[in-house]
Amino acid sequence: MFKFLSSEPIHNPTASPAVPATSEVKCTTCYMCACRCGIRVHLREGNNGPEVRYIDGNPEHPLNKGVICAKGASGIMKQVSPARLTQPLLRKSGSERGAGEFEAISWDRAYDILTQRLAKIRATDPKKFALFTGRDQMQALTGLFARQFGTPNYAAHGGFCSVNMAAGMIYTIGGSFWEFGGPDLDRAKLFVMIGTAEDHHSNPMKIAISKFKRDGGRFISINPVRTGYSAIADEWIPIRPGTDGALFMALLHELIRTDRIDHAFLKRFTNAPQLVVLDDGEREGLFAFDPNPEKGPPGDGRHPHNKLVWDTTCGKVLNAYPQGIADGCDPAIEGFYTLADGTRVAPSFQLLRDRVASCTPEWAAKITGISADRIRTLAVEMGHAAFEQAFTLPIPWTDAWGKQHPTTQARPVAFHAMRGLAAHSNGFQTVRALAILMSVLGTIDAPGGFRHKAPYPRHIVPNYRAFNDPGMIQPNTPLNAAPLGFPAHPDELAIHPDGSPIRIDHAFSWEHPLSAHGMMHNVITNAVKGDPYRIDTLMMFMANMAWNSTMNTSAVREMLNRKDIDGECMIPFIVVCDAFQSETVAFADLVLPDTTYLERHDVMGMLDRPISEFDGPVDSVRIPVVKPLGECKPFQEVLIELAGRLKFPAFTTPDGARKYTGYPDFIVNFQPAPGVGFLMGWRGKDGESHLKGEPNPKQWEMYEKNNCVFQLHMPETMHYMRNWNREYLDFAKDKSWRQRNDPIQLALYSDTLQFFRLAAQGKTSGRQPPDELRERIATYFDPLPFWYAPLEEAATDLKAYPLNAITQRPMAMYHSWDSQNAWLRQIHSHNYLHVNPKTAQAAGILDGGWCWVESQWGKVRCMIRTSEAVEPGTVWTWNAIGKADGAWQLAPGADEARKGFLLNHLISEDLPFKGAKGATTISNSDPITGQAGWYDVRVRIRPAAPEEPHESFPQFASMPAAPGVLGKAAQVITYFAGRKKS
Ligand code: SF4
Repeated sequence: MFKFLSSEPIHNPTASPAVPATSEVKCTTCYMCACRCGIRVHLREGNNGPEVRYIDGNPEHPLNKGVICAKGASGIMKQVSPARLTQPLLRKSGSERGAGEFEAISWDRAYDILTQRLAKIRATDPKKFALFTGRDQMQALTGLFARQFGTPNYAAHGGFCSVNMAAGMIYTIGGSFWEFGGPDLDRAKLFVMIGTAEDHHSNPMKIAISKFKRDGGRFISINPVRTGYSAIADEWIPIRPGTDGALFMALLHELIRTDRIDHAFLKRFTNAPQLVVLDDGEREGLFAFDPNPEKGPPGDGRHPHNKLVWDTTCGKVLNAYPQGIADGCDPAIEGFYTLADGTRVAPSFQLLRDRVASCTPEWAAKITGISADRIRTLAVEMGHAAFEQAFTLPIPWTDAWGKQHPTTQARPVAFHAMRGLAAHSNGFQTVRALAILMSVLGTIDAPGGFRHKAPYPRHIVPNYRAFNDPGMIQPNTPLNAAPLGFPAHPDELAIHPDGSPIRIDHAFSWEHPLSAHGMMHNVITNAVKGDPYRIDTLMMFMANMAWNSTMNTSAVREMLNRKDIDGECMIPFIVVCDAFQSETVAFADLVLPDTTYLERHDVMGMLDRPISEFDGPVDSVRIPVVKPLGECKPFQEVLIELAGRLKFPAFTTPDGARKYTGYPDFIVNFQPAPGVGFLMGWRGKDGESHLKGEPNPKQWEMYEKNNCVFQLHMPETMHYMRNWNREYLDFAKDKSWRQRNDPIQLALYSDTLQFFRLAAQGKTSGRQPPDELRERIATYFDPLPFWYAPLEEAATDLKAYPLNAITQRPMAMYHSWDSQNAWLRQIHSHNYLHVNPKTAQAAGILDGGWCWVESQWGKVRCMIRTSEAVEPGTVWTWNAIGKADGAWQLAPGADEARKGFLLNHLISEDLPFKGAKGATTISNSDPITGQAGWYDVRVRIRPAAPEEPHESFPQFASMPAAPGVLGKAAQVITYFAGRKKS
């Protein structure tokens, strides 16, 4: 009988794979997305050494516990991608940028070109070198390189990704979602996910949600679109894009109105009871303080502890610490009071209460599209989970002021949010509103709620100041501070004495003061405008800035090739380092071929982006499992090599020799402070100490033997309440995760924002913004959260463009990387515009029909797919599936180029604004953090005419294959590891 008629399975997926004798298995860390799961790479001997046979999840890894997703398992097809660059390339003399005409050169020549050019810039005007990186995971090294070079013009991709999520939460609770913290679904009863489709924390989140659902938890998804995780939510609540902040304000209104708030938590662990000055003047809106010099400087973002409270027990003003939290004291969180000197004050919670008083469910219903009744019942559900379903864990802990808590209080309502909140120009205040909502429910670092991951929580404001001294940009001199940081005061802005920006991207200027991750999306436009100055060399790593990583794509492609009156390119020299022939490669003058994640060493460590768990720190590495293809070199090695050639002090011995032989050596031996390094496992000469210790020459081997991961389980007494947990705070300081061991009070009210507002109102004697930015700062730097319409709306005819347009990252692909992946292309080879059937019908477009999508900035032609899983006022598509013809070595006429499309063509990188010196625009970004406003664009749709080509618009001239690329996509579908050449 044939096997397929047998009752035995043809393939038993649970059986151990049959492993041929020649097979070898190596553990490393996945990088098919930023989740960083542990993987096992199964190898087989091939023509040039071991080749990848298949990849599976590592069951021994704490993050994914053996789970692997479609992307992770398809890593083999990235390894053999036909788009792999294999040689350094130089643009052919006389060819235009964008034409993609290159000659292959040696690494020696590439290094010589770079060294000569960079040495000259560094010796004259270092800020003329700009280094911007995309989705890299080694910002501790790239940031150090820029700092040692002496240029402030450095950032990674966070400014156009989710800086609002990071900054909005960190400036409020000292931590954020994803690698910084997340929902404790093992103990939650209610889980509310907002603005998240699929996630950076992909496999762990899927594992956690699946267990949560099996355990009977209730999962609500609030999103304009029901995709990704929302598919298995118990309830989907559709919401209009950019209105989440209004929902949170109404929920705060309801929770406070119905007294479903955690009074004890607010009084002890937040700044709710601290008295805010109400009188006009330089201290208006700041916290009142004790002038006794022994109490320290007035409370502010850097020194938050000299503040006052009103004790209702004795009817007097007390110092907030320690008197205000002493037993027997009951600080007021409501009311209005007068200090002995006549100053009128109120607890900050009173001001929050006043702020949300008018934010009724009826008010929010009109904005969000969610009924007032549903908002009210949502608040009841949240309150019910936090208080009626509350429990305690038998875990004693001692708080920062010595009070012993015999148990740990659970508040089992957990939230998760991401880019749907962040990628709007109102995202910072929206995220703050969410963090405050979580705080009033007492669910910060509590069982069942939000929990931090080491090294978080950070101080509020974190003790990292961004470089801000223009006088320190000197030839051949490192900067005296890192280019990125967290400003706490106008004095910390990166501006010149006249208020103009120091940085090419205008980050940390009055335009976007708290732009903690920089503003990569501004770099090309500003450099071409020469605003505030022209640069010489732009180096980009893993950033597809000529395609899906930029707004206004067509114009930016033109800018990359724009010349000045002397015929010189406005950006004279562009270096692109990438593993693949992306659209941006065609615009490079010099191309450096990078390795894949299977060919190099990498570190996901505490100085950068660890993979910590709730119960302790975790870091991990990648080790090469196969040899680099062709002449590919890891970008990290290129930086170490350049740092040595350019003789950066941190990379050079006193006698001028190179300090590090390469990246692995640098990782082991570089110490920013004694005993502190990139990796925390197996430190000390023999690997006997963890977290801190001398460099260990065998550290890489020890990681390799241990699944490429180090995990420390902290004692239970340090698992919760870490903003105030004495044992944890001391431990974190001892391990150099924090500079101080003082408690981190939640900032329901942000005096940091108020400092900027006072300056804008002209009420302070220090730095003040230029006149044209005063109103903007005074409006948006509100110390209390508020909802405002995304800024683009004010510049849009909403009747003409009635629909919101947003994108999501497809679950099967990660950014632009995977449209070249022979396996993943079989899931999506092009994207559609997803439209509610009612909206499509009203526009006269049929499911599968071609249509035009128009914003005031541009238009695209694409195909429509109707779906009930999108609210009627929103249209959306998958991001980055659409490709330029010929890019990524896709065959001419590939679906990705002919049917796929980019929504980016509809989004402007600037908005109208009357600026200084005749400027008419300002970045299309959050006015506080500079987060790119990707999801603010408004569009309309109409059918394409029957005679129009069935092809997406716009189209671009086909990119030729670069010298040394491997082939065309169709050839690799039949790839077999180990196949010998005949
Ligand atoms: S979730 Fe991301 S890191 Fe994990 S296996 Fe999938 S692609 Fe790899």
